Formats: sequence, structure tokens, C-alpha cells
Amino acid sequence: MNTSKFNLQKVVRKNIAALKPYSTARDEYTGTALVQLDANENPYSSIDGKHYNRYPDPHQLELKQVVAKLKGVSESKIFLGNGSDEAIHLLYAAFCEPASDNIIICPPTYGMYQVSADTHNVACKEVRLTSDFQLDTDSILNSIDAHTKIIWICSPNNPTANALHTKDILKIIENSACIVVIDEAYIDYSSQESFTALLDRYSNLVVMHTFSKAWGLANIRLGMMFASAEIINIINSIKLPYNISGLVQEYALEVLSNPAHIALKNKLVEETLQQRKKLSAELLQFSDVVKIYESDANFILVTIKNARSVYESLVKQGIIVRDRSGVILCENSLRITIGTPEENILLVNTLREILA
Ligand SMILES: *Cc1c(COP(=O)(O)O)cnc(C)c1O
Repeated sequence: MNTSKFNLQKVVRKNIAALKPYSTARDEYTGTALVQLDANENPYSSIDGKHYNRYPDPHQLELKQVVAKLKGVSESKIFLGNGSDEAIHLLYAAFCEPASDNIIICPPTYGMYQVSADTHNVACKEVRLTSDFQLDTDSILNSIDAHTKIIWICSPNNPTANALHTKDILKIIENSACIVVIDEAYIDYSSQESFTALLDRYSNLVVMHTFSKAWGLANIRLGMMFASAEIINIINSIKLPYNISGLVQEYALEVLSNPAHIALKNKLVEETLQQRKKLSAELLQFSDVVKIYESDANFILVTIKNARSVYESLVKQGIIVRDRSGVILCENSLRITIGTPEENILLVNTLREILA
């Protein structure tokens, strides 16, 4: 089923639709070569004597095969980027005409959607979440105009930690002619199903995942975007040719091909969920803690009296949390990542001293 209102040709920028993408040496010859003299590489070796002298696969086919299995999404519907941030950047470049198009965000939410909009000179319409941090679907749908290209939905949402209602998200996907991005960076910690299961049903749906959180690979910078093959083709046509280094492809393949690593990831997610419950219960013992919001992520948003001064006292003790007090609807709130059991105990003990 195609989303009836959505027409990709109307959403993509005209210059991008007409673009003739850069063709790499790797694109122009794909067989195995006896002598490879087509890419101006150093033919001997990398200077460390290893094999990094050759350009990597620009399409990351081997890695995509592993990701496809892991996520149950076919390779043609996968884009791999230098973190989710690259995917965010490329969505603007592909679909948003600078100084003319606009996008919708739902604050309080992840800051990169707005920063990237500003970078691309794309107007950012804000439709606040409701007081229980859910989507105001009617206002969102009413805010769409002929120049609205993307609606950004983060679920579970950062910094509020909660998952957004599936029926609300569906209402927006089904009733809009623009691209709807669901950023599911924290999906591994959530009790909700991923929207990747609905990719075949909705041609305007884009889902983003990352290896930076539950997979413990923030350092290697590897993000995933899932969408129709048509949308992925457009994104591939404008990405930097070799956007994922050979080192990262090699390393991710090794990590993700090992069943023991997958098992450990699942175990650590379980442990984080247990710690989330334990830490939340302990924090609620403090009379200064006003509220802890429902979490579907590996962090909690805690409303606490004098949040700024609590934050500063924690910093003095070497414990760093994120002060979100300045964020709309998050007054006097700290965003706390769930740490190891030892780190969480240290946090609670330090807070006990500070609040005494
Ligand atoms: C952490 C996070 C990401 C991950 O970004 P990467 O660039 O993949 O590290 C994406 N979206 C949200 C909302 C996040 O909090």
C-alpha cells in the first residue's frame, strides 16, 4: 500500500532529482582485478604495511547484508551513515529547498533536527508536545503547508525518555504528503515495536536507528536509515562517495557477525532496564525529587528542586548529568543516563550528601 497523499517526485528538490551522481572507480569496475590501476591508489600497501591503501566499498554491501538480517529490512532500503547525524543532514539536502521549504519538529526533542535545519537555511516550525509529552497530532497536521517537507518524530523521545503513541504517529504518516522521520535511536530499550515493520506499507516513512546507544559503538560513528528503495536511492546519489571508512566497515562486520556480541548486547540492555527501575525507585526516595517521567530509553528525565544547583554540586564531585532546565516543558529537570550498577550507587550516595 502506498500512502495516497505522498508523491516522492513532488517532495524531492528539482536539482537533486536531476543530479548525475559522482561515479567512483569502484562503481565503474566491480569485478575482481588482476592489476588494479584505476583509482590512483598506492599499489604497495598502507605505510603501516597493512591493506588500507585501497578505497573501501562505497556502498558497504557486505555490512548492509548483515544489517539487513539483523533488522529484517532488505539491503535496498538501508542507508549507512557517519552516525544518524549524517542521515539527518542528507535528508535536508535531498528534500528541503533552502529559504523556501520548511520542516516540523515537536519540542522538547533532539537538538540536531533544528541545527541541521538552520545549517540548510530551512524554516523550522515548532509544534510542542502536550504536557504529558505526547504528539499534538491535530496541531501538527494543521501546521503542514505546501512547503512542508519533513516531520521529525523522535520515539522514544530525547530528552523526555518516553515512547510516543503508535496510533498518533500513524495518524501523521497517513495524513501527510511529506516525509515522516521516526528517530528510533533508543528503540532497543523500548517496549514498543520498531516502525521498520511498516516500511512496505508507507512510502513516506523513514526510520533511523544507530549503533551509538545499545550496541555500545558510539565511537565508530555508524548510523542506519531505513526507507523505500526510491528514497534510499536519492540519499545515496548525494552522499559523499566513501562516507563509511574501510576501518569502520571491517570493524562493524566483525562485531555484528559474532553471535556472542549480539547476546552480550541483549544482556546489557536487560541490565540497563533493571538499573533504570532500581535507580528510579532510589531517586524517588529523595523529597527533593518531584517527578521521574516514564522511560522507554537508557536515561531518565528527573524533575528536582533547584536542578541547576544540584547539577553544579554533582559536577564538583565529578559526576556529570545533563541539565535540561532551560528546555521548554523541562523546567528544573536533569537528564540522567543509566550507568553501571557502581556508577548508579555513587550517584545516589553523592545526591544523598548534596541534598542532606
Ligand atoms: C543519541 C541519539 C542519536 C544518535 O546519533 P548518532 O549520530 O548515530 O550517534 C540519534 N537521535 C537521537 C534522538 C539521539 O538521542
